[in-house]
Amino acid sequence: MIKYNLLCKCGQTFESWFSGSAEYDALRKKKLINCIYCDSTSIKKSIMSPNLFGKSNKISKKTASQKKIKKQLTNLRKYIEKNCKYVGDNATTGETAELLEEGIEVATIPWIDKSEN
Ligand SMILES: [Zn+2]
Repeated sequence: MIKYNLLCKCGQTFESWFSGSAEYDALRKKKLINCIYCDSTSIKKSIMSPNLFGKSNKISKKTASQKKIKKQLTNLRKYIEKNCKYVGDNATTGETAELLEEGIEVATIPWIDKSEN
């Protein structure tokens, strides 16, 4: 599956999932892609921001690297649990920023809440 940012002639952008670029081309040719705002079929792929490009690259590799990420999270948790006593919130904030750079949803990490208490 691939997610495209689509741009309509009305100026609105929206996201849609396709099985691949070939499916996108086929659907677009048959005018089966409609704008969710004005129902127009004058749709084209919009240019994603560099930030989104980085994330989409990560997502495409996600399945292969999920185990690696889980291991990193486990190590990170150990690191924070070990270091929080000494440096408090600073370590957590720094590691959170690193996680964001990796494209990991921080909200899915259950122990963040615990450290806020
Ligand atoms: Zn539109």
